[in-house]
Amino acid sequence: MSLFNEITTYGHEQVVFCSDKKTGLRAIIAIHNTSLGPSLGGTRMWNYATDTLAITDVLRLSRGMTYKAAVSGLNLGGGKGVIIGNPNTDKTDELFRAYGRFVDSLGGRYITAEDVGTNVHDMEIVHQETKHVTGIDQAFKDSGDPSPLTALGVYYGMKACMKEMTGSDSLAGKRVAMQGAGNVASALCNYLAKEEAKIFITDIYSHKAQSVAAMTGATVVQPHDIYELHSDIFCPCALGAVLNERTIPVLKAKIIAGAANNQLADEHSHGAMLIDHGILYAPDYVINAGGLIGVANQLDGNSYETAKKQIESIYETLRNIFSISKEKKVSTHVAANHLAEQRLEQGKRPVGKISYSGNHVVAHIA
Ligand code: NAD
Repeated sequence: MSLFNEITTYGHEQVVFCSDKKTGLRAIIAIHNTSLGPSLGGTRMWNYATDTLAITDVLRLSRGMTYKAAVSGLNLGGGKGVIIGNPNTDKTDELFRAYGRFVDSLGGRYITAEDVGTNVHDMEIVHQETKHVTGIDQAFKDSGDPSPLTALGVYYGMKACMKEMTGSDSLAGKRVAMQGAGNVASALCNYLAKEEAKIFITDIYSHKAQSVAAMTGATVVQPHDIYELHSDIFCPCALGAVLNERTIPVLKAKIIAGAANNQLADEHSHGAMLIDHGILYAPDYVINAGGLIGVANQLDGNSYETAKKQIESIYETLRNIFSISKEKKVSTHVAANHLAEQRLEQGKRPVGKISYSGNHVVAHIA
């Protein structure tokens, strides 16, 4: 991999390699674009098989955050962090403190939060070393974890897809194949169960799928069976690149609407392949923006209700993207990029600055 070629192709501003011998920390922070505001994005902890996989992940994820903030109308840029390690066995407070010092060294160009493999507790440890961290306050009624709001956005997004495909946005009786039974999936299953959707769920840790099933009446299936399952909606809520040459042809669902980032292994060829298979795809960074919208509202001091209202608008944003896709005869992913790039060209809305109150980030977002 030629790192500078990758960075230039994707348009990143800065990539930071972080190593701390004492704690065993090996992390990468990528800042993609700060033209709309400071870069914000979670920190993922994952046992990457190679360093190259970790680099590719952080580059793609950070770029996705730029597009997500832009399409959601927020005055924030895109960034992301990855910590290389097993989240079940390699976590120590010292490791997260060392990571926090690296975040701090960026002086606010990167603000972090939770992602796959990290939780509110980890971010509280990071916060001992830096104020450039969010998703930890109690400003909203829950723990500060953005997952429930991400789930709410995915729920509205699923309804927008159903409306597009059937003319009605009801999910009652619809069969949803849920990949992953983590933070977002479990909150999402509660909404789906309330609406009497029929949920099938899987996780590589079967106890996680079983615990969501016990709460919501979902049926547990094996990880390799989830793609071919007879379902209306495939809902990826685990890791990225799950939509590829191998999976798209065997998918039974005609709607893909889920929280995972970077679902398309290749944005262009697989976006087009989905059209060929008559599958409606809700672009990942649009449908999973609920958590980010929540954090932006939290930073701005807005109420939970204001955040929820803004998250509801994911429904209309997706409807707009579907109509651009039809009109321009492009994939829904390309249509979403088009909207995001328009926003990046327009630049920041008039009032958009981040300041600090005590030890916390406060954003003033118009
Ligand atoms: P999580 O770590 O709580 O859950 C992910 C789950 O997926 C885990 O239980 C893991 O065991 C499971 N998993 C991994 N590989 C799998 C596989 N091949 N098959 C089945 N299950 C598998 O993470 P989360 O916070 O729920 O996030 C889920 C996805 O949504 C991630 O891609 C994340 O980047 C994305 N996302 C999350 C948020 C948020 O607010 N948490 C916001 C936007 C996007």
